[in-house]
Amino acid sequence: MLDLSDEPVVDAHCHAFLPLKETEAFERYLSLSMVEVPKADMVNTVLYRRVIRELSRVLGIAGKGDDIVAARNEAYRRDPEGYIRRLFEDVNLDTLLIDTGYPSEYFTGYSVRVEDFKKLVRNRIHPIFRIDNTVFRCLSEAKSFEEASEALAREIDNAVEKEGAVGLKTIVAYLTGLEIRRVSDRDAGDAYNLLVSKVKGGASAGDVVTERTREAKTALDWFVFLSAKKCAELEVPLQIHTGIGDAPLLNLRLAEPTLLYHLIGDEELKRCKFVLVHAGYPFAEEVGFLVNTYPNVYVDLSEMTAFTSIGVKDKILRLLEMAPTNKIMYGSDGYNIPELFWIAAVETKKALSEGLSTLVESYSIDQEWARQVAQQVLHDNAVRIYRLGGTGHGR
Ligand SMILES: [Zn+2]
Repeated sequence: MLDLSDEPVVDAHCHAFLPLKETEAFERYLSLSMVEVPKADMVNTVLYRRVIRELSRVLGIAGKGDDIVAARNEAYRRDPEGYIRRLFEDVNLDTLLIDTGYPSEYFTGYSVRVEDFKKLVRNRIHPIFRIDNTVFRCLSEAKSFEEASEALAREIDNAVEKEGAVGLKTIVAYLTGLEIRRVSDRDAGDAYNLLVSKVKGGASAGDVVTERTREAKTALDWFVFLSAKKCAELEVPLQIHTGIGDAPLLNLRLAEPTLLYHLIGDEELKRCKFVLVHAGYPFAEEVGFLVNTYPNVYVDLSEMTAFTSIGVKDKILRLLEMAPTNKIMYGSDGYNIPELFWIAAVETKKALSEGLSTLVESYSIDQEWARQVAQQVLHDNAVRIYRLGGTGHGR
């Protein structure tokens, strides 16, 4: 079996958090649901069992779920930095790419400054700029179409050139879906103006985009195209949410990766690197096909790794059916609590070790190549694709 415990990890998609903002029961953070879910449903998952089992190992304590959680709460509250370090060192977590769009004033009423998060976790950190928040803000301030497009272009430039953002991100899958079409400036302007008139009439910006009307889709598609063009110009990847997410806001049918046909095949966007985040779970085979056939399409494993427990190994193998190994990146989509960052890496190292060992044993694929694939996924691909420089194997 491949031992990957010492391999350094780049987490290519996650979110900053603050210990003081943790206000819910621990198991609540292991659910993707935005509505009330009975405790019984949250503690009777394989993910919960795995987190408890692995916490018991790291903390060196025995007991049932509630005992382990109580010990965890005590340790985390007493010394948050020390506790985080213990978990992150357990998986050799090196670098974090944080999507600064969550938490943010718009979604949670607060944001976390990159400098503050850096002090807390002490990892190398690179921000990812989320485009949708700028569009929401412009809409809620009833800015004109020209002002909104200028603001988005300016904020993208500023994030990449001044604040060190290494990529952009869009959650349009949550809003009007991934069947993103090229639209004319004029149609986009007309559609945007209709949305603004609704906001002026008292609707919230969130409401007018999540109603998924034709005008919302036309306007948002145009802003995604603008952002993809900026990515090509600035040579940074565009992360696109694909697959599972926070229910019931997410309509999984609108988040299917193959809906991206028009965007990823657009002639003008050939130089934009698209990273399909969350491996489009559960549509990993579809993502594998896209990553195989479009030179500018990449994939990361985030969210799938933290939330699908025993599914991680199978889905990595499904991806490997077609996806070139130099285009697959590890990620956790960790947010709110440190355990999500850590358990995702625990499960991914285990899944890569077991999955790649199967290839070595059953398909005579050589051991050296298997280790190289693990290093590519855990570290090297993200360093190359996001041009992080200076860390790790340099492959
Ligand atoms: Zn995320």
